[in-house]
Amino acid sequence: MKQYPNDNINILKDTRADGKERDWRGKKKRSLLMAKHHAAVEKLEKKAERMYDCGNYLVFKMKDGTLKLYQAYFCKARLCPMCNWRRSLKIAFQNKKIIQAVNEREKVQWVFLTLTVRNVEGDELKPTMDQMTKAWNRFAGYAKFKKSVKGYFRAMEVTRNWDKESEWYGTYHPHFHVLLCVPNGYFKKKDLYVKQDEWTSMWQKAMQIDYKPIVHVAKVKPKKESADFVEVEQEMRKTILEQNAIFEVSKYPVKDTDVIRGDEVTPENIQTVKDLDKALAYKRLISYGGLLKEIHKELQLDDSEDGDLIHVDEDADEVANGAVDVMAYWHVGLNNYVIMNKDV
Ligand SMILES: [Zn+2]
Repeated sequence: MKQYPNDNINILKDTRADGKERDWRGKKKRSLLMAKHHAAVEKLEKKAERMYDCGNYLVFKMKDGTLKLYQAYFCKARLCPMCNWRRSLKIAFQNKKIIQAVNEREKVQWVFLTLTVRNVEGDELKPTMDQMTKAWNRFAGYAKFKKSVKGYFRAMEVTRNWDKESEWYGTYHPHFHVLLCVPNGYFKKKDLYVKQDEWTSMWQKAMQIDYKPIVHVAKVKPKKESADFVEVEQEMRKTILEQNAIFEVSKYPVKDTDVIRGDEVTPENIQTVKDLDKALAYKRLISYGGLLKEIHKELQLDDSEDGDLIHVDEDADEVANGAVDVMAYWHVGLNNYVIMNKDV
C-alpha cells in the first residue's frame, strides 16, 4: 500500500497480476460526476443517491499477492461509470471463456459486423432502439443468416454527436456491434459466404427502412491458429484499429465519455443523461445467440448486465478462500480510497 505523505493513511493500490493498476479512484470520480448530473434531473434523484454511494466501501481478499474484490455495494444504474466498468470486465471475461470453449470444440472463424441506422434526435432514440431490437430478431431469423452463422454476441451501443459544427450535432447514433461465429471454410464457400452488400440489404429489409444503412463487416484474422484468447483478442483489437475504431466488442456498450463530457455539470451533459436514461431503461443491450448462447448456459455464466458485479472474473468461492481482508472506503476529503486496516 502506498503511504500517504505526512500522515498515517494508506491509499488503496490495486495492482493486477500483470502489473497494471485498477483505476478504482478514476471510476469512482466519474461515478460521482455522473451522480451529480442525475441529481439535476427531475425523477432521477433516487438513482443519483444510489450512485453517490456506489463503490463507497470495498472489501478485498488478498490472494497470491493481489487483491480480489469480495464485498461491495454497486448501484447498478445503467449510466453509472463504476458499474459499467464492472460490467465491461465481466463481459470480457465471459466472452473470453466462451470463445475459448468454442475454439476448443470446433473449427470456426470469427467475423465482426456493425449494423447502423441514421442518427436520431433524443426523443426518437427509444423507439429507434426498440425497432432495432425487433429488426435484429428478424435479421437473425433469415434463412441466409441461419445457414451461415453458428452463433453470435451482440451489443447495442449508443454514441452522441458532440461536434457543434456538425449538422448532426446533439443527435444519437445507436448501432449494433456483433461478433459472429461462422463455420470453418465460410470465406471460401459460396453458399455460406455473405457479402457486405448482402448484409446491408438484409439489415435494411429487417429494419424496414427506405435508405441503405451503413454496415461494416470485417474478418477476424488471428495470425496463428490459436486457442489462446489473448492472441485472438489482440488480433481483434488490431482489426478494430484498422477499422478506425468504429466498433468494439466485449465491452459494456455505454461509455461514460459519451454521456458526459468534461468535469463539470453542464446543460448539454444533463440533456444527454436525460435522453439516455430514458432510452436505456429496462433495455437489454447485450445478448448471445446460437452456439454462444448454449455455451454461456453450459458454463453457467450469469447475467453481465444485471447480475453480480463483484465477482467479475472468477468464482466467488475461489475469492472467499483468500486469507486477509483488506477494507477500503471512499474518503471524500482526500478524494481517494483509504485502507481501513492499516496493518496490511
Ligand atoms: Zn454504480
